Amino acid sequence: MVSLRVLILFALVLGLMLSMAWPGGAADNAVTATARKLIDEYTAKIRPLETAANRAWWDANITGKDEDFKRKEEAQNQIDAFLSGKAAFAAVKDKAAFAAVKDLKDSKDIDDPIVKRAIDIIYLAYLEKQLDPQLLKKMTALANAVEKKFSTYRAKVEGKELTDAQVRKVLKTSGLSDKRQAVWEASKAVGGVVEKELLELVKLRNQAAAKLGFKNYHDMQLFLNEQNGADLIALFDKLDELTREPFKKAKAEIDVVLAKNCNVKVDELMPWHYHDPFFQESPGVFKADLDKIYEKLDIVKLCRDFYRGIGLPIDLVIERTNNDFAPKPGKNPHAFCTDITRDGTDVRVLANIDPNEYWMATMLHEFGHSVYSSINIPAKLPYVLRMEAHILTTEGVAMMFEKLSKRRGWLEKMGVKVGDPAAFDETAVKMSRAQLLIFSRWCQVMLRFEKGMYENPDQDLNKLWWDMVERYQLLKRPKGRNAPDYGSKIHIIVAPVYYHNYMMGEMFASQVHHAIAREVYDKAHPDTVVYAGNKKVGGGGVHAAACLQPRPHHDLERADPARHRRPFEPGGIRQGFSRQVMEKAPNLRRGPRQQAQQRRLAEFLSIFRIFVAFLSRIPDNHLLVLPKITQELHHVFLEGFQE
Ligand SMILES: [Zn+2]
Repeated sequence: MVSLRVLILFALVLGLMLSMAWPGGAADNAVTATARKLIDEYTAKIRPLETAANRAWWDANITGKDEDFKRKEEAQNQIDAFLSGKAAFAAVKDKAAFAAVKDLKDSKDIDDPIVKRAIDIIYLAYLEKQLDPQLLKKMTALANAVEKKFSTYRAKVEGKELTDAQVRKVLKTSGLSDKRQAVWEASKAVGGVVEKELLELVKLRNQAAAKLGFKNYHDMQLFLNEQNGADLIALFDKLDELTREPFKKAKAEIDVVLAKNCNVKVDELMPWHYHDPFFQESPGVFKADLDKIYEKLDIVKLCRDFYRGIGLPIDLVIERTNNDFAPKPGKNPHAFCTDITRDGTDVRVLANIDPNEYWMATMLHEFGHSVYSSINIPAKLPYVLRMEAHILTTEGVAMMFEKLSKRRGWLEKMGVKVGDPAAFDETAVKMSRAQLLIFSRWCQVMLRFEKGMYENPDQDLNKLWWDMVERYQLLKRPKGRNAPDYGSKIHIIVAPVYYHNYMMGEMFASQVHHAIAREVYDKAHPDTVVYAGNKKVGGGGVHAAACLQPRPHHDLERADPARHRRPFEPGGIRQGFSRQVMEKAPNLRRGPRQQAQQRRLAEFLSIFRIFVAFLSRIPDNHLLVLPKITQELHHVFLEGFQE
């Protein structure tokens, strides 16, 4: 089944690539011509509203000021009013806007794939807003209020406010359990600050979803992101099963060191003994201290040099952000990238840099999003498509670059001398592996908690949260703790039903990295590949999709068609994600131990079987922005399973 679908998809995508002209139109049939007109009309109206909303959103996150949050809310209200409005398009005068879009979406007669995809996207934008304008306004007001509280909250210990960086520092370095606990609890206290409004928002979101015919908001969000809930859970069930034991073992090793550092027994370890507030990252318990390296380095400069070196410069992004990435009072303490205008002229990154490994990785990540934005997406695509193909692909690209902060080869290529190379390497390898395992367990918590919360918001959510944390992260619930700790994770508020895409992004990143190793670096071992200074990785900056499509052009013209479509190969699946979470690369010799490893490998491969089924449900045209990569991914998955 999968194979047939994939092959059809491949043929479709190839077809699309040959017909990527916009505007075309000379040979349009009547329906296509109408759709094209509607898209232009829609764009003319929505574009200024979205640009204004993006600006307001940025300002609010930078200043934390009431008036900026107000402006952000009003901008959103204008978008909602437009999308929930009934006024007809001039292109289809006899129908209300949504009905016209829906008819076009359902029509089989649009013969231009880009027009068809643009209509699909517009349909989803409208669908979400087919609600009573008052309900929409209420949801926006609440979301805005919660976000503002979250954005401006600072942990307070003994009357003293701590920045996010200070919280992290204590959790990373303190040997005093009491101090850790106080800071950890203070960082969680934001949950109590937002709890009431957040719950109200969750119920309103559900109410809206029910009105539109969905089981709940979780269900609706997956639909709007063109994902399928049953497949998603199947994927995560499998992932759970396969990472459980390796995670347990890795955690046990980490626990020994954490306990020793704080002079407690292993079974006395509490959530505050881990090095970040959620245990979503690998604690720095290994031989070398990676933070030391970054203490005196200019992180933005490193990013600038690196991205310039691979042919995807970020100078404009830095300039648009006023080269200001420092923490400030009122500023959102986290990091994100935003494409303000979607015309390649105004992409920005908000950040709060503290010179350490975490922020090196974070900046590589955010700038990674910025190179996969309209800066590098062809201008000939219509405005509505000039964005990432899917959340999971942009997260995958960002995560692929993020990993370089733990690579000595990368640092050295960037001109940074590493004092004790052996210790750095040992630490980096262990941390990278632990990171993947830890992060995958954390993603389980986020996915399953949110699903549970939207399915039944009236249950004891404090308990649900800790049930998930205990089960998947193997952390101990603090005795008697009964607090809305879920509310201290920003995604629950501003990026609901999003987190699973990070995990899928990881899988995607492994594949892409392996393909680059094979194609640009002549089958080099993926661990030796660090991209730095190689413009081929960026594909000359044509666009970020092409950047990840490393094959030289002349290769495309070679006679062997089988080879064209194989920059991704089955080995990539094996050696990409699975290699990183297993202790050793699978050994093909056949002792009993090797056989066990082989079995394990087969299990890992089955994750990808589910993954490909998932990916192939993303409608064909959505793959436009990353056409080659995705088409080849499908082939690889296919071949990987047929072996
Ligand atoms: Zn990201």
